[in-house]
Amino acid sequence: MKYYSTNHQTPDVTLQEAVVKGLAADKGLFMPERINTLPTSFFEQMSQMSLQEVAYQVAQAFFGEDIPADKLKQIVYDTMNFNIPLVKVSDNIYSLELFHGPTLAFKDVGARFMARMLGYFVSGQDKLVNVLVATSGDTGSAVANGFLGVEGIHVYVLYPKGKVSLIQEKQFTTLGKNVTALEVDGTFDDCQRLVKSAFMDDELNAHMQLTSANSINVARFLPQAFYYFWAVAQLQDANIVCCVPSGNFGNITAGLFGKRMGLPISRFIAANNRNDIFYQYLQTGQYSPRPSIATIANAMDVGDPSNFARVLALYDNSHAAICQEISGATYTDAEIAEEIRRVYETSGYLLDPHGACGHRALREGLRPGETGFFIETAHPAKFKDTVENIIGKPVSIPQRLQDFMKGTKQSINMTSQFADFKTYLLAE
Ligand SMILES: *Cc1c(COP(=O)(O)O)cnc(C)c1O
Repeated sequence: MKYYSTNHQTPDVTLQEAVVKGLAADKGLFMPERINTLPTSFFEQMSQMSLQEVAYQVAQAFFGEDIPADKLKQIVYDTMNFNIPLVKVSDNIYSLELFHGPTLAFKDVGARFMARMLGYFVSGQDKLVNVLVATSGDTGSAVANGFLGVEGIHVYVLYPKGKVSLIQEKQFTTLGKNVTALEVDGTFDDCQRLVKSAFMDDELNAHMQLTSANSINVARFLPQAFYYFWAVAQLQDANIVCCVPSGNFGNITAGLFGKRMGLPISRFIAANNRNDIFYQYLQTGQYSPRPSIATIANAMDVGDPSNFARVLALYDNSHAAICQEISGATYTDAEIAEEIRRVYETSGYLLDPHGACGHRALREGLRPGETGFFIETAHPAKFKDTVENIIGKPVSIPQRLQDFMKGTKQSINMTSQFADFKTYLLAE
């Protein structure tokens, strides 16, 4: 399968190139040239299959031409080795709990898959591949844990000193092995700038092979389609609506791919916090990125969603076509908090601030006869202080998260000057 760039200014590439490079040479995002549909027989049998079996069939449709079946199966089965239950919250609303993986957020799926696929592509190559990732918290932990112990790859996580929560910091500073944490004296934007400058620096690129592991990588976003199929396999309802709490729009784009492959989801809702650039686009047809503002659903604080280009490409730039399949919702912090409190009090189900946007959008947006599921993107304990303040009760921390707290922090101090970062990498 060939992959084209959404900017159309560069030749098509192979899957291997798309995964190793991440971003196209013309700065566009890679898209597969075709989206294969799955046979009717698969949809009929889906509800009798395991999560790993469902995921493998979907992976075959994407990657079957490019990776031998036994290898692909191993990558999928290794990635999807935790539960993704669909939990009933109320009569017609279900939560697809994507927080049962190692770092308790949905990013575990894409990060683990990408680590294994990149590991496969670089195996047998004697040059080490270096993954640089800037994080404001969640991405770093999922990527670091996903790549931990993968041969031939070293990961550098850059994070802003004093600006991530203790539990987040522990998730990527205590691992050791092939993961190095760099504690940058600056902001998240400084971290991102250092990473971008490194990718553009000829001397560094001649010295070491660099790649990125953010959600623009096809190996991170496409596998997220797996769990949309799994949700429908469990739900088996006639009129399904899916709501996705969205930031960079990688997650919802994977769901839209699922629909193209034949998955019976009648429509999607993209739930935003106050960073509602996509919501405004749906209303006006104008895409106007703007600086992000901080909210309690901070993983969705994105002012220029990087996967918007993929949504446009999927619908041939047609605003009308996009509006036919996707609607939007936007919520303030007060509305998010109110939803967490309300759902906890009426059903006992504890939402995290991101999932709360998803739940509220379904509660307000479902029409008669529709059944909805939303993606519960992270465990509420990851936002312990926020959630405790809202419900006025302690939130217990799952054992997996507590285990990270026991580790010893190991990090390297870094200034926000590119010259210092470069000197450090050149000495590696
Ligand atoms: C990353 C993230 C999101 C946003 O997902 P996108 O794919 O960027 O739209 C939502 N919730 C949580 C908890 C996240 O970590």
